[in-house]
Amino acid sequence: MTAPQSTQPYDVIVIGAGFGGMYALHRLRKLGYRVRVLEAADGVGGTWYWNRYPGARCDVESLEYSYSFDNDLQQEWEWPERFSAQPDIEKYANHVADRYDLRKDIQFNTRVQSAEFDQELASWSIRAVDGDTFTAQHLALAVGNLSLPRVPNFPGLDQFNGRWFHTGQWPKETIDFSGRTVGVIGTGSSGIQLIPIVAQQAKQLYVFQRTANYSVPSMNRLLTPEVALPHKAQYPAWRERAKDTPFGIAGHAPPEKFAADDGFEERQRLFETKWKTGGNISFLYAYKDLLTDQAANDLACEFVHDKIRATVKDPKVAEWLVPNDHPIGTKRLCLDTNYYETYNRDNVRLVNVRQAPIEAITPDGLRTTDEHYHLDDLIFATGYDAMTGAILDMDIRVKGGARLAEAWEHGPKTYLGVMVNGFPNLAIITGPGSPGVKSNMISAIEQHVDWIADLVEHMSRTGKATFQAQAEAQEQWVKHVNEVADQTLYPKANSWYVGANIPGKPRVFMPYVAGLDKYRKICDEVTRDGYRGVSIN
Ligand code: NAP
Repeated sequence: MTAPQSTQPYDVIVIGAGFGGMYALHRLRKLGYRVRVLEAADGVGGTWYWNRYPGARCDVESLEYSYSFDNDLQQEWEWPERFSAQPDIEKYANHVADRYDLRKDIQFNTRVQSAEFDQELASWSIRAVDGDTFTAQHLALAVGNLSLPRVPNFPGLDQFNGRWFHTGQWPKETIDFSGRTVGVIGTGSSGIQLIPIVAQQAKQLYVFQRTANYSVPSMNRLLTPEVALPHKAQYPAWRERAKDTPFGIAGHAPPEKFAADDGFEERQRLFETKWKTGGNISFLYAYKDLLTDQAANDLACEFVHDKIRATVKDPKVAEWLVPNDHPIGTKRLCLDTNYYETYNRDNVRLVNVRQAPIEAITPDGLRTTDEHYHLDDLIFATGYDAMTGAILDMDIRVKGGARLAEAWEHGPKTYLGVMVNGFPNLAIITGPGSPGVKSNMISAIEQHVDWIADLVEHMSRTGKATFQAQAEAQEQWVKHVNEVADQTLYPKANSWYVGANIPGKPRVFMPYVAGLDKYRKICDEVTRDGYRGVSIN
């Protein structure tokens, strides 16, 4: 591909104007390519545009969960809190869009319906739901990993007379729950953040819990200059250090001990310190074998079980809140502020829908197998068709050839999480097989976009028109992703990492859990080896 000689309207169409799409636009445009971003929403931010539910907050610290590509940007931007709330992250996304004049190349309110690659023309035709069409040599998917919300198929929802919401499609206007009886279904990261806030407003809150989840305190606080300024003084070095860590986060010394190296008292002291420090990485970094050894993991679980029992006054409710079906950390470890304490409030009732499942939504509430609950409002914190949902929601195909949905019928297959055999010039920013969701997402995005941009530049220099994953390299990568996961406890959980939350979805381990640092090295080696595993023609 040679950008200046291309006859196509665009060199690259990027789908999605979240952090991945915005950086892809900035990076590729700076290299001289003609780029257009198509975005379904009317604003930038992706996940942080849609997830405006009360309590929405990032679980990676603000000084790390931000772009590193421009030192002036990271020096000038001021984060108000240790862990940023959604409005502040959305504000940051808008600042970035303005600062780098991104909006002029983003078409908002444009949801992509289909994309077809023409082998002869070596180009993609992209069609939006409203009928707009675009052609480009390359198609980059920056559609997010948790962006296709899932509302369970309960009978009667269409008859519900109250208001209902999904956390991932929260309205822009302020929703007031004062004086209302509210139901929340779901106790994953979203539910655990939202429940304490809604509890403060609502007259009565029912939490419908099917599976208890692990949560540790965020210990969120204001980000004072005493903390921010020394960090900023060494920001570039800090970012470099982050590159050598599995999560792309520098602020935590990697654990050196195994859990069995410490006696009971010492271990309790360490877990307590971690608990008080706040944050999920801090806690999971207590010992090096917490995510690989069941016995070690059990010790961390017991510590958290005791915390729940000590916090929640009603012993029956406490037992329901104690997770018992997965090792801690094998589902995304939630971060909260006063989650367990919320169950001590008189206006909050935990309903165990594992024991008495939800039967139906009724016009004025919700019925389980043993009780009817009157509700004014119902909130679905029921998660997403993760990692593949938003990609397969579009009809992506090769003219006269395969559809991506067919190629992934038995589970997604990619090379490095960024490209797919049989689908030329398709780049996925943090696709299945990438470490994205298991790391600081913005660090992963920057690495992916830089690597893809280098590949596109390489093609320009060498006058090539197409790239795609080689079949054998892709098979090996999928195998490697699964082998790495099998050396850990992750596959023991029925998590969205394996698609277990979507009925009928093939059970395949999707994220690469060896770490962003190892992944980065592999990508660099692939480049050094002349793009080993990639067919470039
Ligand atoms: P989630 O983790 O998938 O949780 C969905 C919840 O809904 C689970 O408790 C699930 O119960 C429940 N549920 C689903 N279908 C149900 C049904 N038919 N009946 C009863 N309960 C049902 O979704 P999420 O909380 O939105 O979080 C998704 C991911 O987004 C997180 O893992 C995290 O990576 C990310 N996230 C991050 C943050 C942050 O940065 N702080 C905040 C929010 C989300 P079961 O477990 O029984 O299926």
